[in-house]
Amino acid sequence: MKVIDFHLHIGTKEHWTPWVIDYFGKNNPFYYDNFSEKITPEGITTYLQSQGVDKAVVLSEYAPKATGVVPNEFTSEFCDGHTELIPFGSVCLYNEVPLVEQAEYAFKNLGVKGFKMLPTYAHFYPNDPMLFPFYELVQDLKVPLLFHTGTSIFKGSRVKYGDPLFLDDVADEFPHLRIILDHGGRPFWYDRAYWLITRHKNIYIGITGIPTKQLPRYFPKLEKYQERFIFGSDWPGVPDIKPLVEKIYDLPFSEETKERILAKNAEDVLGFS
Ligand SMILES: [Zn+2]
Repeated sequence: MKVIDFHLHIGTKEHWTPWVIDYFGKNNPFYYDNFSEKITPEGITTYLQSQGVDKAVVLSEYAPKATGVVPNEFTSEFCDGHTELIPFGSVCLYNEVPLVEQAEYAFKNLGVKGFKMLPTYAHFYPNDPMLFPFYELVQDLKVPLLFHTGTSIFKGSRVKYGDPLFLDDVADEFPHLRIILDHGGRPFWYDRAYWLITRHKNIYIGITGIPTKQLPRYFPKLEKYQERFIFGSDWPGVPDIKPLVEKIYDLPFSEETKERILAKNAEDVLGFS
């Protein structure tokens, strides 16, 4: 089965705060030994192949108050010339350059295919009207927004901003904006994330970091909404990607649902299909 990993990080010691690197060091010695000093696209594509991953969304990050900064320029250059690597930008809320300008530049000049939003790390409410011109632009550009929802383990994060319910306003105001609730509101807002996909056709759930075996319990009618669930690993936050894919194969779902979770829905959301 084809596999698209919708949640991959490529920073090094240069980008992330020391406790993030420590965390990855403990959870993923392979990353620490091979990539924490220097990371290359060749190294990552070889690793992805070894894990049976066909394509991966590579995330930028502007979260200096929590995890660090992985600039859009770095991600874009890293993915350049590698069709299996899909660059996602991030916008910096502490920059005097308006978000719309940042996003336009990242889309037109750096070729990003979507944006990662980090409310808990960058301390903003996703339904803050100051973000609306940016949402309007992203809707016009027809690229998705991946929102971290739920709790965060890293120091400096503020969990209140991770409530998926704030995206209710955004989905309503921008009905064609594709919004992915990554982590599905983990661990105590699953019901809200689930309700949102039943309420809004433009909302999806990223299953990154959700215990795979529990998916049928957290989202009882998952197969009814099989077009809305998207696989991601959060590597290097996890030691390997392949075991996560294998856990999807073991779920009591139809082949079609598994194909959708592992790749088809990602392609649809990215506009690749
Ligand atoms: Zn992540």
